[in-house]
Amino acid sequence: MFARKRALERLAREKLLYERSRGAGVCVCVVYPNVYPVAMANLGFQSIFHIFDTHPRVDAERAFLPDPDERANFDSGAARLVSLERGRPLSDFDILAFSIAFETDYLNLLAVLRMAGIPPRREDRAGRAFPLVIAGGSAIFLNPEPIADFVDLFLIGEGEEMAPEFIERFLAVRGDSNRLDDLAKVEGAYRPDYYLPAYDDRGRLAAVRYSGPGSPAVSRRLVAKLDRFKTASLIVTEESVFGDMYLVEASRGCQWGCRFCAAGFMYRPIRYRSPETLVAEATRGLSERGVIGLVGAEMASVPGVADIAQAVADAGGRLSPSSLKADCISPALASALAQSGNRSITIAPEAGSERMRKVINKNLSEAEILSAAAMMIGEGVENLKLYFMLGLPEEHADDVLAIADLAGKLLAQARARRQHIGRVTVSLNPFVPKPWTPFQWDAMEDPRAIKRKIAMLRSALGRLGAIELDAESPREAYFQTLVSRGDRRVGAILERLDAARCDAPGPIWRELSELGRDAASGRWTASPHPDFYVTRQFAHDEILAWDFIDHHIHKWFLASERKKAHFEHQTPPCDVTRCDVCGAC
Ligand code: SF4
Repeated sequence: MFARKRALERLAREKLLYERSRGAGVCVCVVYPNVYPVAMANLGFQSIFHIFDTHPRVDAERAFLPDPDERANFDSGAARLVSLERGRPLSDFDILAFSIAFETDYLNLLAVLRMAGIPPRREDRAGRAFPLVIAGGSAIFLNPEPIADFVDLFLIGEGEEMAPEFIERFLAVRGDSNRLDDLAKVEGAYRPDYYLPAYDDRGRLAAVRYSGPGSPAVSRRLVAKLDRFKTASLIVTEESVFGDMYLVEASRGCQWGCRFCAAGFMYRPIRYRSPETLVAEATRGLSERGVIGLVGAEMASVPGVADIAQAVADAGGRLSPSSLKADCISPALASALAQSGNRSITIAPEAGSERMRKVINKNLSEAEILSAAAMMIGEGVENLKLYFMLGLPEEHADDVLAIADLAGKLLAQARARRQHIGRVTVSLNPFVPKPWTPFQWDAMEDPRAIKRKIAMLRSALGRLGAIELDAESPREAYFQTLVSRGDRRVGAILERLDAARCDAPGPIWRELSELGRDAASGRWTASPHPDFYVTRQFAHDEILAWDFIDHHIHKWFLASERKKAHFEHQTPPCDVTRCDVCGAC
């Protein structure tokens, strides 16, 4: 009862900015495998729900992971997970469509199915009256393999064109016993049961036997013209983690090619919405919220962004960009952002030394970082957050200490210029190797070594005074790397974590730490051990679990970028008007 009451209160607090179709035909539950406030802040989830919810022949509802204070009820089986809108059991739907933005939510997919009384493993649902389980979203773009044994069909790529195609096909074949054959014909669809991986005696992927029609490569779907589709807040609610914002997606991809960044490669080539579209969407948003959250990989390079910020400021609102590359912040943009009340800004040097910034291809000098900070502070911004990564490939101890040096220089510059500087926060984040990046072969550094680096920086920054430090947990990064680089066998580890009801980083780490050698038999209790995926350097000639996805980026290009990193050589930003080197254009 308590959960239903909360659901009704949530619905009452929401404002839908579109007409629902409540179509008759197929019942779809769009599931975000995390709690409601997190889900409602995700534009990808809102957009895909909107596609289903406005289709004339689809009756769509939503479902989420239970809130922490309700979870025990569902974990014990005392309660069954139901949909938000009508409280319907998830097993009653024709399709459960998971929208997954972060690979760490893969574990929650198993929990949602279990809490709904649906067998998580695909083979345990085969031939039985359970919903079709499909999944898409940015995490799936990169590597769906850790959950391949739990999902019937994946939709890989951007959903605006792919999802409607899928719905039409489903409506045409829904009753057919072999409907999956037809659904797998949607471009971008990936049917995991067509692929049978085989491993060599070192546990590495040796081959993948494909039993489906046509080519085994799955071509990732992209939308060529972003202006054709609106990606902005469609349901506003105070309860969302960005509850005070109206979110507007400005671009997909990035031209800068930082070698650790998945968003910079998986969405290639870079695509922007036009300034006219963005100003119109921001103006519309100001009738709902006072803050416009501008979303994308890098916002200072968005064409017309200073005018957009000024238009929002002139209309009495505030533009809050997701991230800004320091050297791309124009004086006009700095002024408009400060004018509209931005008192805090995040600058992402990513690495402390010039050497490391060349290794990661940041194309950003120390002088540019310092001048951007001085400009923003000069315009009235008070608080600075500096985003750094630790444990990057080719990193030396000096590069780590250079983080404290850079923060110190920034403070000293403000003092020398008699500029008022409020809170300075150094954010330290363990490097997590991501598929489809030049660093995809690189291992994550041992969490203990990263912990030592954090301690070293804590004391170095402590000596500077007036600098706050927040550090991401290396143990959480370990789990993220496991589900980021894992293959299908990681599914068994996820099952073990779910069976142990691991619902937070601490329990997950403890359970993973127990995965070791069985005292009696000496055999690994998980085979392979998580370290095999996390702290092992992948060889450039080994088959990677995600190689079957065609991102239209040449693998040799990623390898050549990795080599350039070793020699600290940078690559200029993308010029989509005349370049085709990586294959994406
Ligand atoms: S082909 Fe060139 S411009 Fe296009 S995404 Fe690749 S590197 Fe960038």
